[in-house]
Amino acid sequence: MSTRSIMGIACLLLFLIAVPFVVAEEKSGAEVYVCPMRGKPCPMIESNAPGKCEHCGMNLVTMAKYVEYLKSINANKHRVGLLLYPGFEVLDAYGPVEMWSMMPEFEIVTVAQQAGLVTSIQGLKTEAQYSFETCPELDILLVPGGMGTLSELKNETILQFIRDRDKQTDITASVCSGSALLAKAGVLDGHKATSNKKYFSIATSQSDKVEWIQSARWVDDGKLVTSSGVSAGMDMALHIIRRLFNEKKAESVAKLAEYIWNKDPANDPFAVAAK
Ligand SMILES: [Zn+2]
Repeated sequence: MSTRSIMGIACLLLFLIAVPFVVAEEKSGAEVYVCPMRGKPCPMIESNAPGKCEHCGMNLVTMAKYVEYLKSINANKHRVGLLLYPGFEVLDAYGPVEMWSMMPEFEIVTVAQQAGLVTSIQGLKTEAQYSFETCPELDILLVPGGMGTLSELKNETILQFIRDRDKQTDITASVCSGSALLAKAGVLDGHKATSNKKYFSIATSQSDKVEWIQSARWVDDGKLVTSSGVSAGMDMALHIIRRLFNEKKAESVAKLAEYIWNKDPANDPFAVAAK
């Protein structure tokens, strides 16, 4: 690409980023009130008086305050890389994505060994935006489970990707049998972790240097956060929101999803299945 076209793209990007701020700044003089969640997921409604958002119930803020909020979001964005592979479990992937994508503070990107469509165990396809080579830097790596885990355990390329990215992330997380991949890659060694209870041995057989927790909805061991089977990923995702922000934010996301959040990692009604 020529220098001129790079400059052109840079100017266009600057224009696209700057214009909404300028428009917003102009409106701030007229004391316009908006929902802080406008556009994601609330409607872009403006009010000329304070009050509560009809959609989410949050207090409306002035446009000036909203602009400040947008600036702080852009400065502290958490980029999540959702790792896809053939035979991944849809809810393992989309459950946490559903929760995190309700907050503008999260940016979700999809990555697979090769960019393009990846077929889940359910047969539904998801597009990986990036290959392992082109994937941007990640703050959070999310590894879903699924029946496809079994063949990926023999795929050194995906294991090496997990090892490499784990060195850069703030949080490396897994849902269900995704922890088997983390264990096989060696990144769980010396950590506490959990996995799907019905297929617990798939994970535990990958490493004896992991302290496997048989009864846990999820296990937060600092950088490594692993959840139990399938739906548990949503409880873990909300916990990660609580950890990075606060409990109130996690609760409001759960409420928007009309989801009953199991807040206590020790409350694991499915642990018995592993015995
Ligand atoms: Zn709202």
